[in-house]
Amino acid sequence: MDNCIFCKIARREIPAKIVGESELALAFWDVSPRQPLHILVIPKVHYANVAELTLNDESSLVAVMKLASELAVQHADESFRISFNTGEAAGQTVFHAHGHLTSRTPRGELV
Ligand code: 5GP
Ligand code: ZN
Repeated sequence: MDNCIFCKIARREIPAKIVGESELALAFWDVSPRQPLHILVIPKVHYANVAELTLNDESSLVAVMKLASELAVQHADESFRISFNTGEAAGQTVFHAHGHLTSRTPRGELV
């Protein structure tokens, strides 16, 4: 998608602090973190929300959840959340599917 900010991050057209990557997924620090650990994990292919992602591309869904889980193990203790706001009324502001990996109890030094 030409005008999608997260597609642009995935294409490296605009900067982001990338924290993890796999063939199908990308993770970067949220620009305005709401918890001490706040990472966004996206599929590299554009889907408007997590339902579209799940119903159309199981490989990318698994890639997103796997990368989020690896980063959770690496950067949080056992307490963390992976959440997907879906739709404006639920607080979604960027319409490229993304999981918020958040934790109040990060592990060690964050980069
Ligand atoms: P949503 O509200 O759609 O669930 O989450 C969008 C998230 O993306 C917000 O937490 C917001 O801070 C983050 N965000 C929006 N634009 C950018 C950006 O250009 N770079 C980064 N790293 N995060 C962004
Ligand atoms: Zn996109």
